[in-house]
Amino acid sequence: MGIGDRFCRQGKAQLDAIVKAKESGIEIVPVWNKSHREHGIIGTVPADTRLEADAAVRDRAWSGAYYVDADHINLSNVDLFVDSSDFFTLDVADYIGQAPDAEDLKAFVEKNRKYVGSLEIAGIDEAIEISRRDIERIGGKFLLAVKEAGKIYRHIEQAKGKGNFITEVSVDESNEPQSPVEMLFILSAIADEGIPAQTIAPKFTGRFNKGVDYVGDALQFAKEFNQDIAVINFAIAEFALPANLKLSIHSGSDKFSIYAAIRDALQKFDAGVHLKTAGTTWLEELIGLAMAEGEGLEIAKDIYAGALARYDELCKPYATVIDIDKALLPTPDEVGKWAGAAFAAALRHDQSCAAYNLHFRQMLHLSYKIAAEMQGRFLDALAKYEDTIAPNVSDNIYERHIRPVFGIAG
Ligand SMILES: [Zn+2]
Repeated sequence: MGIGDRFCRQGKAQLDAIVKAKESGIEIVPVWNKSHREHGIIGTVPADTRLEADAAVRDRAWSGAYYVDADHINLSNVDLFVDSSDFFTLDVADYIGQAPDAEDLKAFVEKNRKYVGSLEIAGIDEAIEISRRDIERIGGKFLLAVKEAGKIYRHIEQAKGKGNFITEVSVDESNEPQSPVEMLFILSAIADEGIPAQTIAPKFTGRFNKGVDYVGDALQFAKEFNQDIAVINFAIAEFALPANLKLSIHSGSDKFSIYAAIRDALQKFDAGVHLKTAGTTWLEELIGLAMAEGEGLEIAKDIYAGALARYDELCKPYATVIDIDKALLPTPDEVGKWAGAAFAAALRHDQSCAAYNLHFRQMLHLSYKIAAEMQGRFLDALAKYEDTIAPNVSDNIYERHIRPVFGIAG
């Protein structure tokens, strides 16, 4: 489970949720993920995430595995993460659709020619029809991206040594979702590159907006999610990929309407999953600050007002993963009159609460830059109001994410 933490202050509270899951019999490996983009906006460095993770693990005497994920890295920034990370998410989405070398494509088609025809995959009801043309098209679209992943992987392997880190390949930040058939041949290419991928992050059907629920056809998602797992199981055996290769769901926090489908699929296939949650913890910090009233609430309100004033700037990097209706955002004047409980109720992701406002929530999700600019004022408040913040962070991860995804009864 990816438990990104923008300001690196909630490691212990996050780990408490994982500990609680363990007590309920669910083994979860915590992975502190943070991208180059987040580090840049906040002004942290990868070593800060390592310090946070190590400190939390020491403090809570966690004896299980844990990792620090260099999230969405590429060749231009991977070196910054090599020392502190032992999990690398290779983002090659930008290379999708770029033409591969003609000889490489020819070799790829030749190698996969044996799959032309009707392919039966255990766990998928209908046989998959594959033509030579399909393989050419998929190779033409994805081969260069996978080759790039190979370059990044070998670069890391040279620095850290084989087997000393986990590799994820991500293509989730692309324009179109990948079909299960595309996934099959992407995995074939990943195996050819010698990348021991343990997780793969496709772009799934539907919208995975930041911090809010899934938007799309949940039934279609369920069908594809099941087929993807079946394809992965097939690929593990067929291409000798790592036996624990699993799907990675990015922006996976808050997708309440598909958690039941995910849980059912995991149980059906006895499969694992990697679920990345990130901004959700920062929003719990805001909820905790608001609930603390006083200076905590003032800070939360100032962040909102500051963010609204810089709406375009803050939305720009997230344009493809948000849907904010500006008309439905409360004005800073209205928010200024709220007590802490009202602020928390508008922000907290409880869809049964009439005060919940998903536009307000998305807006605040993007506003961490404003908090980062407050520097000491914000960070000192996180320390001062830790007692109000920490239970919100833990409960959010455990109650709203771990329990529904892994089927822990109440
Ligand atoms: Zn991602």
